[in-house]
Amino acid sequence: MRKVIDSHLHLDKYLDNEILMMMKTLDQVDMLISVSYDLESCKRNSTLSKSYQNVKTAFGFHPEQAIITDEEMADLFQWVYSHIDEMIAVGEVGLPYYLRTSSSWSSSLEPYKELLEEWVKLASKNNLPISLHAVYDDVPTVCSILEKHSIEKAHFHWFKGVDTDMDRIIRNGHFISLTPDILYEEEIQVIAKRFPISQMMVETDGPWPFEGPFSGRITHPNMIHQTVRQLSELKTISIDKTYETLYVNTRNFFDI
Ligand SMILES: [Zn+2]
Repeated sequence: MRKVIDSHLHLDKYLDNEILMMMKTLDQVDMLISVSYDLESCKRNSTLSKSYQNVKTAFGFHPEQAIITDEEMADLFQWVYSHIDEMIAVGEVGLPYYLRTSSSWSSSLEPYKELLEEWVKLASKNNLPISLHAVYDDVPTVCSILEKHSIEKAHFHWFKGVDTDMDRIIRNGHFISLTPDILYEEEIQVIAKRFPISQMMVETDGPWPFEGPFSGRITHPNMIHQTVRQLSELKTISIDKTYETLYVNTRNFFDI
């Protein structure tokens, strides 16, 4: 078995013809988990999941953007609640690390933390896993929120952070996922070697573009096969065992 699942991408951000082409060319990619950015994105993902049986969706509000008004947020939550049966996870939600470290940041982190807690409560109440955008300094903050609500099924997508935070994620039974940058980013290779494969998944975060051997190419879930090969080599685990573990992990984590 050499099947993979793309555990985190933004399918709604691709053009219709790109999606059509992607679906025709998927090679041993069993399922795509498409996370949402905002209300429009949730709606498009909902439509896509109805058009394509292998597309599963998560609904949420990406943290790397300005917070919308209370009224707009209420509309978003109301829409999500009325489509709760369609979602396999809450996501993409988390904290705005890149926005906060950019020169345009003039906000406070507090409203983002409050909003994340609302999503965590929704996940807890509905027994849903949660797909998180939380890197570097934000990891301990997010871990504390998860601990407060006794959440175990949390997925730190494209994890980047220090060893102590990694250990806390491992101890709490959370998952991380690796992207194709494992082929050329030493920082990610170090994480991949250290983190247990039993709590790992793979993803593309597409259409996010990659460098190295992927430079200039539209991000495609088939790229995951190179991620799996690289991981197998780094961890000196057989290629078949690597494929199987990642696949089973993802199916169990998302209950799909
Ligand atoms: Zn993402």
